[in-house]
Amino acid sequence: MNFIAGAEVRTLAHVISVMPRHMKNLNLTFIAAFFWTAVALGLLGFASTAQAAPKRVLVVTTTLGFRHSSIETAEKIIAKLGNESGAFTVDYARVDPNDPKFKGPDGKPDKKQVDEAIKAVLTEKMSPAALKNYDAVIFANTTGDLPLPDPQGFLDWVKSGKGFVGMHAAGDTFHGFEPYIEMLGAEFKIHKAQVEVDPINEDKECPACRHLPDKWKVFDEIYQFKKFDRSQVHGLLRLDHNPNDNTPGDYPLSWCKEYGRGRVFYTALGHREDVWDPNWPDRKNAKEVAEAYQQHILNGIKWAVGLENWNAKPQTVQ
Ligand SMILES: [Zn+2]
Repeated sequence: MNFIAGAEVRTLAHVISVMPRHMKNLNLTFIAAFFWTAVALGLLGFASTAQAAPKRVLVVTTTLGFRHSSIETAEKIIAKLGNESGAFTVDYARVDPNDPKFKGPDGKPDKKQVDEAIKAVLTEKMSPAALKNYDAVIFANTTGDLPLPDPQGFLDWVKSGKGFVGMHAAGDTFHGFEPYIEMLGAEFKIHKAQVEVDPINEDKECPACRHLPDKWKVFDEIYQFKKFDRSQVHGLLRLDHNPNDNTPGDYPLSWCKEYGRGRVFYTALGHREDVWDPNWPDRKNAKEVAEAYQQHILNGIKWAVGLENWNAKPQTVQ
């Protein structure tokens, strides 16, 4: 091949050498233009392969129990984080019960129609075939025993090397499906009045927490959990006292864990709009709290889809 290429080059050189001068200049100009175009195309090709395609994330906000008013804010903020970072694109499985199309004769949402719409969207977006379109699923303030088309198939999908991210009421979801609780790492038990707490940063190296101070201050509805086992999770944020009555104890707020070949990230924070959104007008949290929360969940999502890496082994076994 080298010989042939060399011969071709010599042949081209010979043709040019016997051309009239004005034709030579034209041809050299053409060859130069061709060369630089090829270089530019090559560089473009390199740039496009170096920049990986964004990951695909399904944001689920359907609710069969309590519906948080912060859901709409959560949906917008997660999409914004994906857009601005270029890390992921967002699709939704969502049903807004206040959509006028669900209005019943009494002016309230018709529960039967809403439940049917929830079942339809989850069947469409979370069937084993549909899940192949995504790298991670986010449960943002979901509640209740959601009618997934194949609940165990969903957990097996995560286990196969995909990501699961849960915010706040994701811990108040699937009380009737123990394998989900085992996947998540805990089950919501109770919350009392909203309160300012000072979460302890349990991992100052991890990108989901390293921007947070040793003791962060955040005002939110603070969940307490059951079925939580530190030997099964890597702790990220916790309280060393009861959020509402100050009794000393272990009160987890955020953690991550490996689940088969998959990754699970959970944060109990995210009840209030002003925890999600630094521009929410009626606020008790400083803007910086919401900015820090966004960094916390953005890096949690990036870890879940494999764009960040950190040590997720339980601290108890290190
Ligand atoms: Zn809440």
